[in-house]
Amino acid sequence: MPNTDGFMDAALAEARDAAARGEVPIGAVLVLDGEIVARSGNRTRAGNDVTAHAEIAVIREGSAALGQERLAGADLYVTLEPCTMCAAAISFARIRRLYYGAEDPKGGAVDNGVRFFSQPTCHHTPEVYSGLGETEAASLLTGFFKGKREG
Ligand SMILES: [Zn+2]
Repeated sequence: MPNTDGFMDAALAEARDAAARGEVPIGAVLVLDGEIVARSGNRTRAGNDVTAHAEIAVIREGSAALGQERLAGADLYVTLEPCTMCAAAISFARIRRLYYGAEDPKGGAVDNGVRFFSQPTCHHTPEVYSGLGETEAASLLTGFFKGKREG
């Protein structure tokens, strides 16, 4: 696996911040040339926006910061396996490498569900590395949803 330099730790920090705001604790960072160019947690509640997943947020921010539509050469780190929407956006943005933490058997679309990158309709496939920070990523989510049920 390529050197990941604590970028998943930064994504996990975004996930913890999201939890503190009452958002689903998922975080992401976008890295280009060894630098973080965008970081975000989920923001669906704050923006009343179902598309404001962490991955979409960093792709939007990164593209705006770099002034370009596509992000060829950029790597995306996210704490949970991306959903179908985010997998599509990652492909459209031409992300080079995707690193994700925990698998999501219920909503994931990379190694579960539609396996978006394996479909003939997918025209750009990033290199995928999974399992980074998996334990903490999963326990943040478990704790969050457990708290919801008990609260
Ligand atoms: Zn998503």
